[in-house]
Amino acid sequence: MHIIKTIAEMQQVARDARREGRTIGCVPTMGSLHDGHASLIRESASHHPLTVVSVFVNPTQFGPHEDFAKYPRSLDADVQLIRNSCGTHVFAPTVEEIYPEGFATSIHVSGVTEVLEGAHRPGHFDGVATVVCKLFQAMRPDEAYFGQKDLQQTIVVQRMTKDLGFPVTITVLPTRRDDDGLAMSSRNAYLSPDERHHAPTIYKALVAASRAISLGETSGREVERIMHHILTSDGVFDVDYAVACVGDTLAPCVTIHPGDQIALLIAARLGTTRLIDNLVVTA
Ligand code: AMP
Repeated sequence: MHIIKTIAEMQQVARDARREGRTIGCVPTMGSLHDGHASLIRESASHHPLTVVSVFVNPTQFGPHEDFAKYPRSLDADVQLIRNSCGTHVFAPTVEEIYPEGFATSIHVSGVTEVLEGAHRPGHFDGVATVVCKLFQAMRPDEAYFGQKDLQQTIVVQRMTKDLGFPVTITVLPTRRDDDGLAMSSRNAYLSPDERHHAPTIYKALVAASRAISLGETSGREVERIMHHILTSDGVFDVDYAVACVGDTLAPCVTIHPGDQIALLIAARLGTTRLIDNLVVTA
């Protein structure tokens, strides 16, 4: 499979497709692909003659003490997975291609970026919004596919897409999990066998919170207490947050009313690995 390296070539491919009336689906990724990414690629391929998968480890969404340098990179295996998932094109630009000398623009989406991941990873969502904007300009998709795994990111991207008037439909697909409930993530590769053994506790905490809501719990604080209790009883997690929020805004959820959409979100560190996960439930 031919790997597109430049924005100019990517735009040419997109222009040619459009001229021939073929629609374009895109799946932005940072590579090190797993079955969660594959589900997005397959869904795009079932709707669009062109499915472009971008593989780009975006430096601007990593903080200075985060894992940009050691983030797993495996382009050959990624290309194989993209081919097996019926992706048609790979866009794998260099950092210099996306951020040429003198690059001075940053896109800031206010509001939803100030809490949770935004509060714990300052500047993270500016990096995400900026790179997604650049990727959209390059890939010119009709539809872009994102995972619910990164729930806050999907809200930021939807806001940015609407505000800047990109003619792109944003589609969010469910989180793919291992059999024991652990959300698939490229960062799971960092976990030691012992950490991997404990990691599904995050999902157990989310499920317990969701069950409490379905049994009629109306206090957001109590739901959060349930998640903290399960996470801390393992004695191995450093919890950044375990919260119940209003589904579409991620504002804190104080009282839960029947019919409310509640987002349960956890970020916790196991050793040096930081994991995030969420469930969205209707009360
Ligand atoms: P990443 O390579 O981690 O930046 O992820 C690229 C896209 O794949 C994002 O839209 C993620 O939300 C999505 N994704 C990551 N993990 C999963 C998963 N376990 N299930 C579904 N989508 C996922």
